[in-house]
Amino acid sequence: MTDQRTLAASSIVLEDPPLDFEPLPRAARQLVVFDFDWSLADQDTDRWVHEVLSPRLRIEFCRLKPQMQFTDMCAHLLAELHKEGHSRADLEGALRRMPVHPGMVRGVRELQRKHPGTEFFLLSNSNEVYIGTILPSVGLTEPPLFTEIVTNPAHWDGELLRLSRRIAPDAAEQHTCKVGCSANMCKGDELDAFRKRHESYDRIIYVGDGGNDYCPILRLGPNDVAFVRRNRGLAKRIADEGGVQCTVRYWTGAWEAEQLLGLLA
Ligand SMILES: [Mg+2]
Ligand SMILES: [Zn+2]
Repeated sequence: MTDQRTLAASSIVLEDPPLDFEPLPRAARQLVVFDFDWSLADQDTDRWVHEVLSPRLRIEFCRLKPQMQFTDMCAHLLAELHKEGHSRADLEGALRRMPVHPGMVRGVRELQRKHPGTEFFLLSNSNEVYIGTILPSVGLTEPPLFTEIVTNPAHWDGELLRLSRRIAPDAAEQHTCKVGCSANMCKGDELDAFRKRHESYDRIIYVGDGGNDYCPILRLGPNDVAFVRRNRGLAKRIADEGGVQCTVRYWTGAWEAEQLLGLLA
């Protein structure tokens, strides 16, 4: 067995990483929770739209990020994008060109087909419009893959995309997470709330990459599994902060995640 630190972060050249494909036990009823940006999708929606349409705003993104709440900043940059004259069609076109790896799509659809006791839940800090535009463009809505999608609300106001926080800044109940979730949403709380809305599962599998996926992974138990993307915020937090009870399996490319999903069938 390769040690955890090597599996987490030491692969600088990512083309041929250490493989982590040891079998997993079978579970009759399982929930697969997916993060969206850099997990189900092979890019980050909030950054990608500016990379495609306005490099100036992509640089502005980096400048503002330390100063503003993340969702508020993304909403502000969308207003700037609108001021620059970019239309709804421009934004939707950029989203439809965003990379989603065919291996990931194949992996989730194969698992859904082979194991009917599997449910999928999308838990993302992106937004309703980005996800609602991309999922159908890669064939993941017909038939639906996800039982539920929890993300930030967004809607079109003419040509302007208006984005707001999942938990509004003036809402009476703010989350009290101390693990570092941004004010708009605690992914751990959202996972717990989903579990309360549904029957229990024999195990939960969480597919994620970002620092904000650390909170929900801390809420998983010893029967659960995290499929963690290497060399990103989540792998670093697991290595630095520990405290994870679930099994952790690592992947770099979606073609590896496809193999890991295959272990659940
Ligand atoms: Mg992510
Ligand atoms: Zn949290």
